[in-house]
Amino acid sequence: MKRVYLKRKISNRVANGHPWIFANEVEKVEDGINAGDIVEVYFDNGKFAGKGYINPKSQIIVRLLTRDKKTEINEQFFIDKIAECWKYRKKTGYIENCRLVFGEADELPQLIIDKFNDYFVIQTPALGIDRWKPAFVKAINQIFKPKGIYERNDVPVRELEGLSQQKGFLSASFNTKIIINENGLKFHVDLENGQKTGYFLDQQDNRRAIKSIVKDAEVLGAFTYTGTFEIHAAYYGAKSVLGIDISENAIDQATRNAQLNNLQDIVKFETANAFDALKQWSKDGRQYDVVMLDPPAFTKSRETIQKAITGYKEINLRGMKLIRPGGFLVSSSCTSLVSSDLFLQIIDMAAKDARRKIRQVVFQAQSADHPIIRGIENTQYLKFLIVEVQ
Ligand code: SAH
Repeated sequence: MKRVYLKRKISNRVANGHPWIFANEVEKVEDGINAGDIVEVYFDNGKFAGKGYINPKSQIIVRLLTRDKKTEINEQFFIDKIAECWKYRKKTGYIENCRLVFGEADELPQLIIDKFNDYFVIQTPALGIDRWKPAFVKAINQIFKPKGIYERNDVPVRELEGLSQQKGFLSASFNTKIIINENGLKFHVDLENGQKTGYFLDQQDNRRAIKSIVKDAEVLGAFTYTGTFEIHAAYYGAKSVLGIDISENAIDQATRNAQLNNLQDIVKFETANAFDALKQWSKDGRQYDVVMLDPPAFTKSRETIQKAITGYKEINLRGMKLIRPGGFLVSSSCTSLVSSDLFLQIIDMAAKDARRKIRQVVFQAQSADHPIIRGIENTQYLKFLIVEVQ
């Protein structure tokens, strides 16, 4: 097996367990390596660092799969790993729908597998993991009795890895418009055309966290997508719910989801730009008991972090102004570059500018089928906050 040697002066990150090796940390790569190969990595003192897959085209040149020299990286390795992932989900109570594999947090860098009951969606944005796709399919077929497996690799980062964007069946073809159950409700999921892998499983516990505060409330939800939080609010006893999203497609699907649960008299959806609507409606003097915000990631790069901060401050400030005294703000952020501390600081700034006092009710992350590994920043990405707004 070909070897990669690290420079003498690199940070402790790799030694401390982080699986990424950046190109500028590498002293030497042995000749004859092909992109996607499994390589052995050594520290400059000759100590074995681990085995992983290499892509000389990528800024992250190696992603480690194991620290054990004797472990062979072959089809069985991946099958065993996926079996372990399933064991963890079963133990922690994520069975029907879950993120079965959460990349780096499951020591399978860049591999995402979502389980929607009997259907599976696979995403492999890096070359070195993409080539093991047949092993992942085999694992799913061995462990489960899947009704279908679908590939969602329509992600631009693949191009940086020298891969094309693609989607399609990894099993016999099937109807990719399915219905899933969550917290006693039903939702349409479009595995082929829905955002990301079709549905945001990471908020499944957070959707339950609104249960008490929405009772008898007038609720506004912005960035609703397929209406999941809003439909939960109606189900948990809200008096009325309005959900808005900029995408007409999302609003159509949200409306169908309300009908699917027979909650269409309580929850309505409208197409609107949340930034404009929140501003206009607070000018108009509209008031709600609960305002919920779940925007998309505002940035993926450090250079534009200020733009994200401004965006979060703006919507949270506008949201708070729409809340009756004693009501609640439910605010999410999935921008991984915005840390929990920074997010809370932004909320404090928004409250100050809105001249409102806030009390924290709930502050948590994504559900535990997306485990967090301390020291691997990207595994801790979702912030979910409920505050009382006085
Ligand atoms: N709450 C949803 C996920 C929201 S994803 C869930 O739990 O499933 C973010 C949504 O924000 C997307 O549907 C996107 O269409 C919408 N969006 C993006 N920019 C927007 C804007 N300016 N105004 C309103 N909606 C917007």
